[in-house]
Amino acid sequence: TKKIRIGIAGYGNLGRGVESAIYQNGDMELVGAFTRRNPEDVNLLNESVPVYALARVEDFKEEIDVLILCGGSKNDLPEQGPMLAKHFTTIDSFDTHADIPKYFDAVDQVAKPNEKTAIISVGWDPGLFSMNRLFGESVLADGTTYTFWGKGLSQGHSDAVRRVPGVKGAVQYTIPNPEAVEQVRSGSLPELTTREQHTRECYVVLEEGADAKEVEQAIVTMPNYFTNHDTTVHFISEEELKRDHAAMPHGGFVIRSGKTGDGNNQVIEYALKLESNPEFTASVLVAYARAAYRLNQNGDYGAKTVFDVAPGLLSPKSAATLRKELL
Ligand code: NDP
Repeated sequence: TKKIRIGIAGYGNLGRGVESAIYQNGDMELVGAFTRRNPEDVNLLNESVPVYALARVEDFKEEIDVLILCGGSKNDLPEQGPMLAKHFTTIDSFDTHADIPKYFDAVDQVAKPNEKTAIISVGWDPGLFSMNRLFGESVLADGTTYTFWGKGLSQGHSDAVRRVPGVKGAVQYTIPNPEAVEQVRSGSLPELTTREQHTRECYVVLEEGADAKEVEQAIVTMPNYFTNHDTTVHFISEEELKRDHAAMPHGGFVIRSGKTGDGNNQVIEYALKLESNPEFTASVLVAYARAAYRLNQNGDYGAKTVFDVAPGLLSPKSAATLRKELL
């Protein structure tokens, strides 16, 4: 049978993860990657796969079944999402939660009349975590949903620390508070404040002559980013930053705790432990690319989220095989 032909739009951490995930899925082939940079400056893992200028992507309308958008949520996707859904069936990982409804409408308006399918906000949060919040809420009507993130590297918070005067390099980890997690797992339905749920830990390399106390103070009092959390700042050398903090681990858990009958506790937990956040997110995008292809083949057009996609469509196996093997 014919393979699903994939294109990658934007080649950063996520783009690289998508490339390697495609090689793990025998029913897909990679047509090429598209970039705003000079294509000669962008090196794929497999050097025989071509890189093109993103400006030329429309020329590949007939050669690509699904375009996986790997741009950043902040500046790239709000522009690229609606632009590319005009010509391609797309997948993206738009993760600015508050702006998802607006982004959905912008993409839907373009995708539908052009008979394209666009599954937006795919990944783990939003994405797999969203589905687990939905399962929990639908099954345990009387209860509370908790999401814990980490231990994980937060790109946004790391950037914020790096902008503090006197900071040469830095990373920030978000860490679930173990006591809060235990309370939630026990089924006691605690009411937790933001401060009680997570702590923040920063590893900072100082510029020469910078005052450690001043830098620490500037970090822990930064509004929005750090004032609502207990934050610890560790000062380390540049070598330590490179050696111990170059990976992008993440993860977390979604817990739904509720009561049924005459007060029986029921707890559902879904957990992720990820050594590489972008590689995992990319693997989710690739599974949803298969679903987007099938939806489009079936004439199901417009913007979708994970809530709109039947789970069987994610698998390369047929519905009959899935009934036999996994039910
Ligand atoms: P990157 O910053 O690595 O890449 C974003 C874009 O920047 C790329 O598409 C690329 O576009 C450009 N770029 C990459 N490297 C360079 C470079 N060296 N110089 C200049 N430009 C470069 O971001 P990530 O891939 O790490 O993350 C992308 C998005 O994924 C995030 O914004 C986040 O929103 C989302 N995400 C979602 C998750 C979820 O669970 N839903 C989880 C994790 C991430 P071009 O090739 O056109 O230059």
